[in-house]
Amino acid sequence: MARQEVLDRIQKYVDPFRVTRGKGFRLKSFDPGDTCGLQLGKGEAADLLARGTQWLAEEQDMLYAQDCWSLLLVFQAMDAAGKDGTIKHVMSGVNPQGCQVFSFKQPSREDLDHDFMWRYVKCLPERGRIGIFNRSYYEEVLVVRVHPEVLKRQRLPDVGKKIWDQRLSDIAHFEDYLTRQGTVILKFFLHVSRAEQKRRFMQRLDRPQKHWKFSSADIRERGFWGDYMHAFEEAIRATAAPRAPWFVVPADNKWFTRLIVAAAIVEAVEKLDLSYPKIDAAKKKELAAARVALARER
Ligand code: ATP
Ligand code: MG
Repeated sequence: MARQEVLDRIQKYVDPFRVTRGKGFRLKSFDPGDTCGLQLGKGEAADLLARGTQWLAEEQDMLYAQDCWSLLLVFQAMDAAGKDGTIKHVMSGVNPQGCQVFSFKQPSREDLDHDFMWRYVKCLPERGRIGIFNRSYYEEVLVVRVHPEVLKRQRLPDVGKKIWDQRLSDIAHFEDYLTRQGTVILKFFLHVSRAEQKRRFMQRLDRPQKHWKFSSADIRERGFWGDYMHAFEEAIRATAAPRAPWFVVPADNKWFTRLIVAAAIVEAVEKLDLSYPKIDAAKKKELAAARVALARER
């Protein structure tokens, strides 16, 4: 299949899940079980995904060589939606030297002594690199919004009614700023249903090799499902933009989640129209001289 044809197909799959305009966005319009009518066997999905990751590896090599853009991939989701597995699969082909994953957990005392963006800013990807945020500054308008006691720990001098709108606006501006600095931002919300989350938790309880993944805190958070969905909806509404799109990725079928995420990344990187840096006359001369010197060697 020609490259353009593959790209057209990719775009067709990604389009329904891309949100670039927050106005009127409703989470309810997105079905976590959606597979675009695709009924792929595991093998076929794995094959497609392998093609996507291979493509990404090639593009990443150019991204690195060009040393101009950076790519920030943000992953947010409820527990057991498959963040870890998606990151592992989608990035499996890329060179680890050009890619960094940061997992954000509860903030430390030092983190809490600073503004809320501080710890995330320190981890932003350098030019030429791919940075993956497994959870991100969006937690500041998700878990922090759902649990008032978490906000209290941040010891803000002045917390008004508008705090969430203000925080969301700060995030949107921050993303504007980053984009203008050459950071391409893609944000993924892995949208799992409450029923599927329950099934996955049960599975963790049933399988000894999954026990380490189980945490009672996850069950507690499940109790706040409605609050989280509201917080996600508000976050997407306030920060979806063409320059920093959200992808609301159906997450009840893991193979489909991985395909859509891989496709969205390939599509975005492809749009950058990357190429290897051209070399100037002086460099050409240097290369020719090196060739002569090497050939002369015994
Ligand atoms: P996994 O469970 O797959 O290892 P995880 O991302 O759920 O991955 P955990 O250590 O289970 O990792 O959870 C991290 C916890 O840290 C989450 O409950 C999350 O809500 C919390 N957290 C992340 N950022 C913040 C923040 N800024 N303030 C308070 N809590 C946060
Ligand atoms: Mg967890």
